Amino acid sequence: MKRFILAKYLLPIHQEPIKGGCLVLDNDKVIAMGHYNDLKREYPNAPIDDLSQYIILPGFVNCHTHLELSPLKDQIEWKGSFSDWIKEVGRLKRELGEETILEGVDKAIQDLWKSGVIAVGEISSEYLSYQSLAQSSLHGRVYWEYISLRSEDLNSRFNMLKDSMQEDIQANSTMKVGVSPHSSYTLSPEAWQKVNQFIQEKDYPTAIHVGESIEEREFFANRRGSLFQFINGISQLPEEVYHTTPLSYLHSKGYLMRGNMIIHMNTMSDRDVQILQDLKLSVIHCPLSHDYFSHPPFQLDKLMDHEVNIALGSDSLASNYTLDFFEELRQMVRNFPGLPMEKIIRMATLSGVRALKLREGLGEIRVGQPYGLIGIRHPDPVTNPFETIIYNESSVIHLMSQAFR
Ligand SMILES: [Zn+2]
Repeated sequence: MKRFILAKYLLPIHQEPIKGGCLVLDNDKVIAMGHYNDLKREYPNAPIDDLSQYIILPGFVNCHTHLELSPLKDQIEWKGSFSDWIKEVGRLKRELGEETILEGVDKAIQDLWKSGVIAVGEISSEYLSYQSLAQSSLHGRVYWEYISLRSEDLNSRFNMLKDSMQEDIQANSTMKVGVSPHSSYTLSPEAWQKVNQFIQEKDYPTAIHVGESIEEREFFANRRGSLFQFINGISQLPEEVYHTTPLSYLHSKGYLMRGNMIIHMNTMSDRDVQILQDLKLSVIHCPLSHDYFSHPPFQLDKLMDHEVNIALGSDSLASNYTLDFFEELRQMVRNFPGLPMEKIIRMATLSGVRALKLREGLGEIRVGQPYGLIGIRHPDPVTNPFETIIYNESSVIHLMSQAFR
């Protein structure tokens, strides 16, 4: 059935905002977008949903979560050492039972939804979060994490990954799947070869943590520092890993594939930016988690100059105090005061859809496509709708099509 949605502002993202705009929805698709006076003759019998106090925009895409770590909220104080932080996450994680993890995942899903997030890029290391996400209203992609440094556990870990993906995948779900070879420093060359062969055979989208910390830079550049000592104590990586950057190492070995999603890139060289551009890699920036770790300033300008697709994530609650996506947007404004707010909203929507390789229609409002929209109520006149969204503190409404399966 056709119906009109009247809005204070429509933000299609791929085109300019439409003040006093309206949409015509027909079952699961947007069939027209413009102004009511221009469209009413075409659809004379369509009822009207009057949302003229709302700004209507695509729901947010949170490209980086570890929902299974949600029970670690407020558990780890940052003391300045990234490797100590990783060890502490590992220690606390081992104490969590499956039930506690799943409760944390469910609560996190509700928090995401409430803050206008309609799609996530989840990294699953326990292989537990997929079912909860697939049964929720969220869309997105769950990346099965793979870590393997020791040759003795290469096959057992790989089989666990393969078997659990086969069990869990739901062909018709709005929650898609991918693989995450965890990071530049947690896979041996043999593990990279094995997992990449699997990824290529199945054509899975891929997410990798790269260039997150100063310690990681030191690890690759100078073969020293506490992260080097920690990893070297588990397994020695070959000499060719060193005297380079994490991204350049992965590229030189052929481990990167076109369109991969690269999480963090808090440290990078000029050569790295060129690699990101040449391979059309997406970069995920996590503003509040970045702040928690006091990483070096994120080189947003450089990435934008090279037209790299940049999207946003919140990372886990082990390094963030909230999953409220509006807080991430406000942190972007604080960290990059000259950045147009329109660009921040684009990173939070359409750029995220591209990074996660989700289907067209999510992350934007497009005629002929299904819709995944949120509405933000604002009773007063609005001068800059993007600013109004970023500083929103009231609850969000959802308008979701069922056609994304
Ligand atoms: Zn992460």
